[in-house]
Amino acid sequence: MSDEIFDAAVIGGGPIGGFTALQIAKAGFRVAVIEEHIAPGEPVQCAGLISPRCLDIADFCRHTVLGEMKGADIHSPAGKPLSIGGDRVQALVIDRAAFDRAIIEHAIDSGAVFISGCRVKDIERGPVQSVALPGKTLKARLIIGADGARSVSGRSLGLGNPERILNGFTADVAGLDIEQDRVKVFFGRNLAPNFFAWMIPAGDVTRVGLCVRDAEVPVHAYFKKLFREGPAAGMLSEGRILGKHSGIIPLGTLEKTFTEGGMVVGDAAGQVKATSGGGIYPGLVCAGLCAKTATEALGEDNLSEGSLAVYQEAWTRNIGDELKKAMMMHRIFSNMDDRELEDVFGMLSNPDILDTVNRVGDIDYPSRLGWLLLRKEPGFLRYAGKFLRHGILDL
Ligand SMILES: Cc1cc2nc3c(=O)[nH]c(=O)nc-3n(C[C@H](O)[C@H](O)[C@H](O)COP(=O)(O)OP(=O)(O)OC[C@H]3O[C@@H](n4cnc5c(N)ncnc54)[C@H](O)[C@@H]3O)c2cc1C
Repeated sequence: MSDEIFDAAVIGGGPIGGFTALQIAKAGFRVAVIEEHIAPGEPVQCAGLISPRCLDIADFCRHTVLGEMKGADIHSPAGKPLSIGGDRVQALVIDRAAFDRAIIEHAIDSGAVFISGCRVKDIERGPVQSVALPGKTLKARLIIGADGARSVSGRSLGLGNPERILNGFTADVAGLDIEQDRVKVFFGRNLAPNFFAWMIPAGDVTRVGLCVRDAEVPVHAYFKKLFREGPAAGMLSEGRILGKHSGIIPLGTLEKTFTEGGMVVGDAAGQVKATSGGGIYPGLVCAGLCAKTATEALGEDNLSEGSLAVYQEAWTRNIGDELKKAMMMHRIFSNMDDRELEDVFGMLSNPDILDTVNRVGDIDYPSRLGWLLLRKEPGFLRYAGKFLRHGILDL
């Protein structure tokens, strides 16, 4: 490797690292993206459901859309279905590998250097940062850690890793006959403790998966159970599993996402919606803000902690509050047993409440609906109150 000192080294070539690098390269700085896998976006560890807003941010990924989702059929622990949605497109299903690839290709076209098949082992800090790769060192003025929930860069920069995680499992299943513009969601402590399972139509296949937290058995055991028990089992009986992947999702944002000469972004910073596990939208928002801080700081040649603190202020003001509220909603939900969940389903099936869900529901900003429902249906307050009394320390 040459003696070049890059302006920035982005660790991790996922969508968020790629998008951050793209913005920095577009501003005219020398940026390297270091990715441990050979092909960007692979292996896929994602259900690939995003809001249309993601394409307002990354318009050049529009070709990766496989389907438009207008609603969801949600199943209570007892199997009671509830249909939400209408004519509005609420979410898009993407080819996630193609999405990640498009971002990296754009970053490369804008001048970024993509170093693939190279796992970062450590970062030695100093006036210039040294990134330890197998058998070589890469030097950069600024480090951006975008290497996921178990980020090496977060640890090396002294910012740590998100403490709590969801364990996820997803598979492409062929041979299922489900509506092409609706997702199916399944709740129940036996089925997916502290989270939920899903079926998402994705062209020729259906993405079937689930996340669990603090579960008694490994996540793949719950995945198998999905095919044997509960309301999903009947729908899955004709299915052929083509490919399976497990993955993790961080819960809760890091307290601090910057330090002298470094920032962390995306899953590495815990910038994920705790209600759905969706990290692409909040990650892209934060990537834009991270790149803006980076280019200003590089331009002024001031990579001090004080200069990079602007990033934390920016993302906290923009989306941090919503991520906190989503975390609070996740805590309320994960403190409920199946009987209480059935009770909530009962309240949601009131036509007036359902109408509010359909009008206001927004997968990126779930708190807007949450607070409205609390005001409309005093029954929901019971669960928020229980959280306030017992739940705050009990994630
Ligand atoms: C089962 C499951 C389903 C999901 N479904 C959705 C969904 O439907 N919608 C949604 O919005 N989000 C979903 N997510 C979350 C979403 O996948 C993440 O939030 C998103 O990928 C975050 O992007 P990122 O770039 O921050 O991290 P990642 O996508 O994890 O990318 C990090 C990259 O860093 C690389 N890397 C890690 N360590 C190193 C190292 N030491 N050296 C070099 N490279 C390294 C990795 O190989 C990876 O390519 C899901 C997650 C899981 C697990």
